[in-house]
Amino acid sequence: ETAKKNGHIVMIPFMAHGHIIPFLQLARQIQRKTTLNITIANTPLNIQYLRSALSSTSPHQIRLAELEFNSTRHGLPPNAENTEKLPLSHIGKLFNSSRSLEAPLRSLIAQITEEEGYPPLCLISDVFLGWVNNVATSLGIRNLSFTTCGAYGTLAYISIWSNLPHRKTDSDEFWVPGFPQNYRFHRTQLHKFLRQADGTDEWSRFFISQIALSMNSDGWICNTVEEIEPLGLQLLRKYVQRPVWTVGPLLPSAKGSKHRAGKESGIALEACMEWLDLKDESSVVYVSFGSQNTISASQMMALAEGLEMSGRSFVWVIRPPVGFDIDGEFREEWLPKGFEERMRDAKKGLLVQKWGPQLEILSHKSTGVFLSHCGWNSVLESLSNGVPLIGWSLAAEQAYNVKMLVEEMGVAVELTRTVETTITGEEVQKVIDIVMDQEGKGKEMKEKANEIAAHMRDATTEKGEEKGSSVRAMDDLVTTILS
Ligand code: UDP
Repeated sequence: ETAKKNGHIVMIPFMAHGHIIPFLQLARQIQRKTTLNITIANTPLNIQYLRSALSSTSPHQIRLAELEFNSTRHGLPPNAENTEKLPLSHIGKLFNSSRSLEAPLRSLIAQITEEEGYPPLCLISDVFLGWVNNVATSLGIRNLSFTTCGAYGTLAYISIWSNLPHRKTDSDEFWVPGFPQNYRFHRTQLHKFLRQADGTDEWSRFFISQIALSMNSDGWICNTVEEIEPLGLQLLRKYVQRPVWTVGPLLPSAKGSKHRAGKESGIALEACMEWLDLKDESSVVYVSFGSQNTISASQMMALAEGLEMSGRSFVWVIRPPVGFDIDGEFREEWLPKGFEERMRDAKKGLLVQKWGPQLEILSHKSTGVFLSHCGWNSVLESLSNGVPLIGWSLAAEQAYNVKMLVEEMGVAVELTRTVETTITGEEVQKVIDIVMDQEGKGKEMKEKANEIAAHMRDATTEKGEEKGSSVRAMDDLVTTILS
């Protein structure tokens, strides 16, 4: 009996920053509530990264296990173990390569079982690593799927992959199973690999099979909040026919994010904060496209032009377009000549290289809007600070996040979609003006973003008997794991 109480959970995230960090935060939350042992398993380089993220924060007992992995065996460059170091064209291979972690995961579980005298109580796997369900089932262990996306975005993405509904219609608009009959999605909301998917290609084969396996999980955990996505959650629950626990927002710890920004961006966090301190409240545009995606060279040029034309202050995390170096001799092909110096001298724009202290920027009172690819972590970080968004989706389920932010939540305007479009400086300026408008639509979006921030705070608040929805969901999740 004591053995059972002490039990073990093994967690297996997909190999991407935006997945690993919410897994770590979920592990921390479970740890605060139980005496369970928790191990996060991943490839060696991702574990190294987690180790340094953990060492920069408070004491912890989360265990980290390296699963043997050799990227070159999967046609990937040496040491490519994470989406961050990879061009989009390789991401399909990275997804597929995750299957090779099955054997080392089985060894890890065998080792835990031997040491502790009983198998782990539960495996928590990324929703895109459905193969973990087979491991769990074969060993008689419970498996839960964790989706690090929102409910609406998750449903749209898994349903489109599983049904490829756009292939069954000639029209640009199509219905996605799981959504109401009159609900329409648009072909331009499909990222490149989805648009090309025919059910037999590398991407289709991986996603269709992995999602189907995750549908066998005993339950799903979602990094969202019950009150902010009523439609998405209602539909997702109906679609997966499993309990869905809403434990969000699981945000990165500020300390970890600071640590990394200091190390990688070449700009001190303090310098960034001092720069923001000089600005008026809600007056700054923050621009970033997340940890893996970049826009094209011509889009970078138009974005720079639009930011300059807007006359607003901005902080822009710049990542060079695919094929260019950040300091290379071709810099003028993707950033207007003299732009950086001009913006710096006028104290208008701060360019941060590659990695910015995002959480600190978004929680600074001077930040007024986030021009974002709308990866789910970025969405949660923005809304938890009451910052409305300008959507420019690039990959994964981001276009559906934008659709929800615009149509369901009213906290965003959409600028464009994908890396393939041509945009102009005027278009950029126009959307910035809309969101920054202190009256009308801009004001409305700001108010709605603040309401969502309040819901998020309430959901994670625990005052004696009074518990927010995410606290209750976490309690229930833990009870289920222990039962
Ligand atoms: N991030 C950051 N600084 C950057 C870029 C990204 O701190 O310059 C963090 C961001 O705060 C978020 C995560 O990386 O927690 C990105 O996750 P998201 O889901 O938004 O997008 P992805 O990187 O997965 O496309």
